Amino acid sequence: MTFEELGLSQKVLAAVQTSGYTTPTPIQAQAIPPALQGRDILGIAQTGTGKTAAFTLPMLSRLESGRARARVPRTLILEPTRELAAQVEESFAKYGKNHRLNVALLIGGVSFGDQETKIMRGADVLIATPGRLLDFFDRGKLLLTGIEILVIDEADRMLDMGFIPDIERVCKLVPFTRQTLFFSATMPPEITRLTEAFLHNPIRCEVSRAATTAVTIRQILVASRGHADKRETLRNLIRSAENFKNAIIFCNRKRDVAILHRSLVKHGFSAGALHGDMDQLARMASLDAFKNGDVSLIVCSDVAARGLDIPDVSHVFNFDVPTHSEDYVHRIGRTGRAGRSGVALTIVTEDDMKYVDQIQSLIGKAIDWEGPGFDALPPPMETSRPQERRGERGQRRDRGRRPAASEREAPIRRQAAVEREAPVSIGRPRGGRPRLEEESFRSPACAAPTDRRERGERRPRRHEDDGPPVVGLGDHVPSFLLRPVALKPAKVGEE
Ligand code: AMP
Repeated sequence: MTFEELGLSQKVLAAVQTSGYTTPTPIQAQAIPPALQGRDILGIAQTGTGKTAAFTLPMLSRLESGRARARVPRTLILEPTRELAAQVEESFAKYGKNHRLNVALLIGGVSFGDQETKIMRGADVLIATPGRLLDFFDRGKLLLTGIEILVIDEADRMLDMGFIPDIERVCKLVPFTRQTLFFSATMPPEITRLTEAFLHNPIRCEVSRAATTAVTIRQILVASRGHADKRETLRNLIRSAENFKNAIIFCNRKRDVAILHRSLVKHGFSAGALHGDMDQLARMASLDAFKNGDVSLIVCSDVAARGLDIPDVSHVFNFDVPTHSEDYVHRIGRTGRAGRSGVALTIVTEDDMKYVDQIQSLIGKAIDWEGPGFDALPPPMETSRPQERRGERGQRRDRGRRPAASEREAPIRRQAAVEREAPVSIGRPRGGRPRLEEESFRSPACAAPTDRRERGERRPRRHEDDGPPVVGLGDHVPSFLLRPVALKPAKVGEE
C-alpha cells in the first residue's frame, strides 16, 4: 500500500514525501482511511509504530476546510505528559508545513500568558495535558463546544497516572457528534470500559498483540545482589556495552532518578536527568541535551520518558525492574525503533523476581540472563568481612565487587584494584556463562579525562572513585604502636 492510496490531501502527501516516508506503517494503513471518513478509531498500538502520524495526517486533511474561532479550538489531542504533547506539536509542524494552521500547546509548568494568547487567536489544533486543559476550562478561558475531532493518546498511561476521571469529564464537555481517535498500547478493563462509553461504533485497528516487544530489541537480565550494588552493576554494564551510542536509564522512583544521576556524573559519566519534579524548562533542556548528543545518558522516571520519540537510542537500562509489567514494554520500546537494533538490559535483585515473572508472562517469552546468576554472585562485603561493617561509607563503596585474595591480606591496595573492576560482559553469544573480564573498557558514555576537559566536566576527585577510602593507615598497624605500654593505675574519680 502507498500513501497515495490512503485518501490523504495533496498538501499532506507532499509533507509526507518530504519526511522521506515511502510506505505507511500498518497502523497508518489501517487507521487513516476510516479516520478520513470521520469514523471513530480504536487503535491498539505502542509508540514506535507510527501512530502519531496515524492520527495527525487525517486530522490535517480534514482541517483544510473550516476556520478556528477565538477560545473555541476545533480539535483536541490529549497526551499524558508534557513531553509527549510537545512531541505531537513537533509532528504537526512537520506534517503540517504546507498548512496554515494555528497549533496551541497547553501544558503545565509553562506560563499561562502565551498559551492564552494562542487560544485567543483561535486554535485549529489544541494539544494538551488533562490537568492544564481543565484548568483553562475552569477559568473560563476556553470552550470545548467546537471540538470536531478528539484524540486520546496513550490511554493506558493516562490510567496509570490517574487521569481517567479527567478524560471522562473532557469527553462529556466536547460535542456528542465529534469524531474520537483513541490510542492505547494495552487494553486493561478500565480502558475497555472507557472506549465502550465514549467511542461510537469504532473501527478497531490493532497492529500487534498488546504488550509485545519489538524483535529488533535484544533483551537481557543481569543479576545484582541488592539495591546498594545496582549502581556499580550499572556502571559496569555501561562501560562494557557493545555498540554503545547512548542510553536511557529507568528508575521506578523520582528520588532515585536524582540520586542515580548525581552518582553517574560523580563517576565521570556524561548524564542528564528527566523526572516529573523538575520544572518544565529543565526537563526540556535535559531532553534536548540527550537528543543532540551533548549527554549520552539520561536517567528517567516512567512518566517523563513515556512515548518519547528519540529515534536512535542504542541501549535501555532498567536500573529498577518496573513493578507494572506494561512499563517494561514501554521502556524497552525506547530502543530498537524504526527497524534499528537495540539492547535492553534489566538489573534484577532476588526481590524483583516476581516482577520479572510477570513481565515474561506478559511478553510471552523468557528473557535471557547474562553474567553470573544469583547463586554465583559473590557475597556482599559486609557478610564476608564483618570487621568492614565499621564505616558505612567504606562499606557502601566496596559492595558489588568480589574481594581478591590478595586484597583480603592487604586492604590498603583495594583502591588500585578497583580501577580494574570487572565489567559484566554483554553482547556475547549464548551458551556458557560469560566470564567477568578484568580488562578495562571505555565506552563513549564513560568520559575519558580529555573528553571530560573538552566538555568542561571536572575530573572525579580521588575520594569519589569506586574504591573505598582508606582512613588513616588503613588496617596497617605500625609496630611501635604494638609495643606494650605500661599504664599508671587510675586514681579514684579519674576516667
Ligand atoms: P510514533 O509511533 O508515532 O512515535 O512514531 C515512531 C517513529 O516512526 C517516528 O520517528 C516517526 O517519524 C516514524 N514514522 C512514522 N511513520 C513512518 C513511516 N510511514 N515510515 C517510516 N517512519 C515513520
